[in-house]
Amino acid sequence: CGIVGVVGNKNATDILMQGLEKLEYRGYDSAGIFVNGAHSEPSLIKAVGRIADLRAKIGIDVAGTMGIGHTRWATHGKPTVDNAHPHTSASGRFVLVHNGVIENFVELKAQYLADDTFKGQTDTEIAVHLIAKFAEEEGLDTLKAFQKALNLIKGSYAFALVDAYDPEVIYVAKNKSPLLIGLGENYNMVCSDAMAMIRETSEFMEIHDQELVILTKENVQVLDYQGNEVARDSYTAELDL
Ligand code: GLU
Repeated sequence: CGIVGVVGNKNATDILMQGLEKLEYRGYDSAGIFVNGAHSEPSLIKAVGRIADLRAKIGIDVAGTMGIGHTRWATHGKPTVDNAHPHTSASGRFVLVHNGVIENFVELKAQYLADDTFKGQTDTEIAVHLIAKFAEEEGLDTLKAFQKALNLIKGSYAFALVDAYDPEVIYVAKNKSPLLIGLGENYNMVCSDAMAMIRETSEFMEIHDQELVILTKENVQVLDYQGNEVARDSYTAELDL
């Protein structure tokens, strides 16, 4: 029920775990993180239960400069490790977290994908497999593949997506679920809640429904679902810890 992501010059594992702890109040039954970097191996860790249970599974080898994390409040599929987010494509290349409900996942599954593609029972998994299909079978780049999937998906969502081949970028999008950008010096963040970012930054940027954001350590680019750039100012908010 909460999302956090970071890319840049920070210890991603620390930022994600602190963020997930701050999001605990939203309620959750399982949690997970994906961490990657130009000079580190990708790691995916998931656990059912408390954030402390996730923390217990994280070794010192889980390090990097970018990552995404998630606390899940199950809506479709039991709270299990397979159903916990992040979800990955069969190739392992695409990794995604989601808050909300994909209303047309049954229809999309029937239309685009074989049953044995799926590891769990969530509505979420359709998103990552669609993106992988559009990238790996149709040859679209990650942005175009994400955009194509967003134009098909109906429902409420905050998504954060990473391409394990490109540890410099996080793609995010939202519709009827909260999500906010936090801007830093040589790093940028995304989160469901400003409170989970205020230790790192006091500068934020809104994302509106049906917008896609490309986040790198130095840049934040906002697009509509047709790929047109949208101008958006950031703002400063001093919140009390
Ligand atoms: N519908 C998704 C699931 O059941 C996401 C739930 C959430 O927002 O945590 O996994």
